[in-house]
Amino acid sequence: MKKNDRVIICGGGPVGMVAALALVKQNIPITLVESFSEPPKDPRAATIHPSTLEMLSDVDLAKMVVKKGLIAPKFQFRDRKTQEIIAVFDMAHLSDETEYPFSVQYEQWKLVRDALNSVKRYDIADIRLGRKAVAFSQDYDGVTLITENVDGELEKIEGKYILACDGGPSTVRLGLGVFMSGFTWGERFLVLTSKHDFEANDGYTIRNYVMDPTEWCAIFKVPGDDEDGIWRTLFPTKADETDTDLLSDAGVSAKVGGLRFDMNHHDILHRNLYTVNQRVADRFTIERIFLAGDAAHLNNPLGGLGLNTGIHDCMNITKKIGDVWYKREKPEIFELYHRQRHQLATEFLQSVSIENKKRIEETDPEVIRTNQKNLRESSEDPVKAKAWLMRSSLLDSVRKEATIE
Ligand SMILES: Cc1cc2nc3c(=O)[nH]c(=O)nc-3n(C[C@H](O)[C@H](O)[C@H](O)COP(=O)(O)OP(=O)(O)OC[C@H]3O[C@@H](n4cnc5c(N)ncnc54)[C@H](O)[C@@H]3O)c2cc1C
Repeated sequence: MKKNDRVIICGGGPVGMVAALALVKQNIPITLVESFSEPPKDPRAATIHPSTLEMLSDVDLAKMVVKKGLIAPKFQFRDRKTQEIIAVFDMAHLSDETEYPFSVQYEQWKLVRDALNSVKRYDIADIRLGRKAVAFSQDYDGVTLITENVDGELEKIEGKYILACDGGPSTVRLGLGVFMSGFTWGERFLVLTSKHDFEANDGYTIRNYVMDPTEWCAIFKVPGDDEDGIWRTLFPTKADETDTDLLSDAGVSAKVGGLRFDMNHHDILHRNLYTVNQRVADRFTIERIFLAGDAAHLNNPLGGLGLNTGIHDCMNITKKIGDVWYKREKPEIFELYHRQRHQLATEFLQSVSIENKKRIEETDPEVIRTNQKNLRESSEDPVKAKAWLMRSSLLDSVRKEATIE
């Protein structure tokens, strides 16, 4: 008989760590296994949408995020060549829909750190940092996870369920043989971080999408390690450009210098290159094992949807685990997790993130004109602006989830 008195969480990124907090707050013991010994500070997700702030409020993290993050009440679309401001969306249009009519720029590693600090206060939380999951199994009375530390020592952990939050290359998803349908973009994305103040110098807002048929970019401010604010610029690359060329001083200077003639590699604090996928796992629930976050779906970062929808997954599944744990529901409810989150990942997340990319990189001059006209009209008409923001901030997606049976 297995010791099935806990939920095992594989992966302590933002999704796994928030899931851990959501479970211990329901008095459900957890063991969380994370291969890193502390949250890595690589520049990944930073935009937290209103729908996610609402959920973070349920685990007492929203106040901290709002206090320490940068509030972004508006976001901007520009044309790169003309530098014309095409549209400014004011999130105040969401005031009657949410307590949080703004997004917050807050680096994901800080969210992980805050969630970890909260989880650690619960003695029913067993956090294993610096341990990697290497194998697992499940049967009628529970699950087993085998972990390995840096010295190659193995340990067996038993539990009732495994929540796989182990990111895109998920060991658990691969071990289950669950296929991720979709595709990988030919180009990669280059993220360059600088101190150049695009707000004070160039009139940008905290979140900006700069449209261009050959070299679009996205520009965001995040608090940075010293909280003084740093700026991330995200550029597409060409399929045949090598890592060495793109990350070289000359490569970096070419990208950033094209945007601001007076900037070059000396202004760049960090340079990172990412492969971009649009994929959804074919199953999110496999008996006692559940996939959440990047382990379940991957998308391009335009619109800042990956981390947000990952948190939405984990709040959905941890609620259902609680319902089954305390016998308010039968385990069949887990199938609903698959139906709800798989449908939204397929129909909503993929279509919105692909739409965001296609709009910003459009090459047909006629379509560019139409897109820009539509954006401007949507941003200026309060009804249209609200509808646009309900979709982009994932409030529509959360409401739709409640209707999927
Ligand atoms: C350039 C870029 C910008 C982005 N911007 C945004 C944005 O603005 N907004 C947004 O919402 N999303 C954004 N995203 C996406 C976002 O970063 C991811 O969706 C998010 O990190 C997913 O969180 P996660 O916890 O599911 O996975 P991860 O953050 O990948 O965490 C998985 C964790 O599991 C651990 N792990 C993996 N395998 C094992 C194992 N075998 N054993 C133990 N531990 C393991 C890893 O160490 C890691 O800590 C961006 C992504 C990129 C690349």
